[in-house]
Amino acid sequence: MDYQYLADLSLVGDTPSRDQCRAVLNSADKELLSLINAAYRVRHHYFGNVVHIQVLTNAKSGLCQEDCHYCSQSRISQAEIERYPLMSKENLLKEAKRAKQLKAKRYCMALSGRNPSDKEIERLCDIIRAIKQEVGISVCCSLGFLSEEQAKRLRAAGLDRVNHNLNTSQRFHPQICTTHTYQDRVDTITRCRGAGLEICSGGIVGQGETDDDIVDLLMAVREIGADSIPINFLVPIKGTPFEDRGHDLNPRRCLKILCLARFLNPDREIRVAGGREYHLRTLQPLAFYAANSIFVTGYLTTPGQSAHEAWQMISDLGFEMEVEGMTDGEESKRSAHLIA
Ligand code: SF4
Repeated sequence: MDYQYLADLSLVGDTPSRDQCRAVLNSADKELLSLINAAYRVRHHYFGNVVHIQVLTNAKSGLCQEDCHYCSQSRISQAEIERYPLMSKENLLKEAKRAKQLKAKRYCMALSGRNPSDKEIERLCDIIRAIKQEVGISVCCSLGFLSEEQAKRLRAAGLDRVNHNLNTSQRFHPQICTTHTYQDRVDTITRCRGAGLEICSGGIVGQGETDDDIVDLLMAVREIGADSIPINFLVPIKGTPFEDRGHDLNPRRCLKILCLARFLNPDREIRVAGGREYHLRTLQPLAFYAANSIFVTGYLTTPGQSAHEAWQMISDLGFEMEVEGMTDGEESKRSAHLIA
């Protein structure tokens, strides 16, 4: 397989064929560096060596009536997690300030549940306005289903981006959730885009899906025009229906999936999201040659790598973080100039 040819296709905006996509997922381990090199050519063309960092707060935990089988917060999960309603404005502001100190480009707040109430939207709007005024950081929210009116209110309050994952292919979706449909998810994404919000939408691999399901998911997020594509690798949480899934993943397989995500979505932010530490393990640095974004400090109900360790990894690679629209190298020069 000529991976550089796939990079050429990707760079001129052509979509690799389904057979070529399958070949990437099934490529031999001995070809991994050639594959990564081709994906890196595409990544570098659009993003250079810049990495975006995100910090996520689980702003409302548990208490969800949906049955997403991968999720520790669902009504059918027996996982031992904290359960609490929407956190206070004061605490979320504190978290946003901490995110900024950790060199995050974006601060993300996730609320468990099928959809937020109008009262929660009102409180969120107030919190978003305060974060934008006092912290000055890009804000993303993951809120479940949103009406057109709710999306518009959030946008007017200053929300930049909404996360709403397609999660998997349309075909496989009934195997991971029965309380809502894939189309419900597409509809919320359409409403949010209509309200002027950027879209963050990706999925979870390792749930028992086929290679074709992964290809469909990555093509679907391209089709809906997702600005940011988080790729989660299922962490099998004890007490969830999927506590025994995720076994087909190994670090090389995760890297092949990220390379395919890059070929199919050349100029989009591709984030190595949940499961990065658990599934990529010692090969995590290689992920940056395909992806350009990560979370630090943890996920919804699972812990993650500290920001300091992530900074070290990025600096060891010779890559740079983007802070406030500048790389950290430019930021240090600006600070040195201001101090002088
Ligand atoms: S993913 Fe969201 S909607 Fe699904 S069970 Fe978890 S909290 Fe509820």
